[in-house]
Amino acid sequence: MIRRARPPRRAGEPERQSAVPHHPAGEPAPDPEAGHELTVTNPATEEPVATVPGTTPGQTGAAVRRAVRAQRRWAALPPADRARLLRRFAAEVDAHTGELARLEVTEAGHTAATARWEAGQVRDVLEYAAGGVERLTGRQIPVPGGVDLTFAEPLGVVAVIAPWNFPMPIAAWGAAPALAAGNAVLLKPAEATPLTALRLADLATAAGLPEDLFQVLPGAGGVTGAALVEHPEVAKVVFTGSAATGRAVMAACARRVKRLTLELGGKSPNIVFADADIERAAATAPGSFLDNTGQDCCARSRILVQRPVYERFLELLEPAVLAVRAGDPADPATGMGPLISAAQRDRVRGYVPEDHPAAIRGTVPRGRGYWYPATVLEAHRAPRRAAVEEVFGPVAVVTPFEDEDEAVRLANATEYGLSGSVWTRDLGRALRVSRGVQAGNLSVNSHSSVRHWTPFGGYKQSGLGRELGPEALAAFTETKNVFISTEED
Ligand code: NAD
Repeated sequence: MIRRARPPRRAGEPERQSAVPHHPAGEPAPDPEAGHELTVTNPATEEPVATVPGTTPGQTGAAVRRAVRAQRRWAALPPADRARLLRRFAAEVDAHTGELARLEVTEAGHTAATARWEAGQVRDVLEYAAGGVERLTGRQIPVPGGVDLTFAEPLGVVAVIAPWNFPMPIAAWGAAPALAAGNAVLLKPAEATPLTALRLADLATAAGLPEDLFQVLPGAGGVTGAALVEHPEVAKVVFTGSAATGRAVMAACARRVKRLTLELGGKSPNIVFADADIERAAATAPGSFLDNTGQDCCARSRILVQRPVYERFLELLEPAVLAVRAGDPADPATGMGPLISAAQRDRVRGYVPEDHPAAIRGTVPRGRGYWYPATVLEAHRAPRRAAVEEVFGPVAVVTPFEDEDEAVRLANATEYGLSGSVWTRDLGRALRVSRGVQAGNLSVNSHSSVRHWTPFGGYKQSGLGRELGPEALAAFTETKNVFISTEED
């Protein structure tokens, strides 16, 4: 039986939109096998661009069974062949960067530059993972009476459940190392953004990956996603999305002791000390919370500024924020696109109404599209929820602090712990503060969080486990220990 899990709503949190329609109390629940359809909408124009059939639980089960068979064939191939096929997949993605980027601009409203970066991430992550296939070695451990070996065995079938905010890279962060470690992958993209995922599946086929090894199952989270999570032959779930849904997915996985990686929300700090290069800190701050219109789990949406440079920082920040032009995401001059949907805009407005007094407020196009302006609030005038919860929109709150201890205390005063930036010229302080902030990805005098060579993931409610980096494949294997006796009798 399929659980129509709706994420528990936290007190005060606006209700999330679900693709699964509600039914009036007392009436029988709709039959999930009757099928459902996803409508993909261009967020910059509000025009529907495609409809995609959702995958029913029955179809999901059939896909899992095909994946089980494909995985056995895949794991039996020589490692060099698996590596070669993944490199070919990367080459196909590379050759179709422009097309994939245009699709992402259309379905997600990403700027052209962001969308090209995303397609490049998929290529890079595939290539990096391919390099691991032939290096997935076990160990020989000294023991008395024999020889002890470990093997890194594939898990089997892995479900990757992706959000809409970075549809392509996040799909690849799970899928590429899982495939490289010898698993089959079922990717469920978010309801709003299935098109790039479906195109990636075509490119995998064109590259020669075995049939059914990498399948994309578009569908509603509560139907297709839940069916994957519940399926006994799905060995691991990689879930990226909201903390509320992540908790529900974790509870479902617990019932089967299913392996799980969680990449959830964030409320990351950008800590600016008085000794920093203030001009650079202010010039780069807009990108750190406006990129992808703030719909970024790593957005530095809490700017903490040491009091002696607080006023100066705000003076410098204003022109930098206003220089980020919001508009047609396909135009290369555009710095910020729309939000993903009307529901997301309502959610952001629920945190900060557009007429709420702001220290800095940008402009957006009039007319159609889910626009919301770049907004900077001073902490003493910010709505409380906007200051502590993940807004997932182009909103930052600026707070002054006195000293290092207070900066670290404020930075850690959140349930999340994904990313953060520290701006200072003092190397010792940079390291002390980076070590003190409870977050998985810190950057000093920079806002970079994601590099495919380095581990990525969250502390606290931001998640469980790590993706990317040298250990990425290990998250998709079981360690098997084999002892061989060398005793004569
Ligand atoms: P969401 O939780 O609403 O949905 C994420 C995915 O889960 C979608 O594919 C959805 O269909 C599916 N889903 C929904 N209900 C499900 C269920 N019951 N069972 C299985 N699957 C289900 O999140 P969203 O709004 O699409 O994404 C935004 C959130 O993702 C933000 O909170 C953001 O911080 C987070 N995020 C985190 C990272 C990270 O790496 N830490 C990266 C990107 C986004």
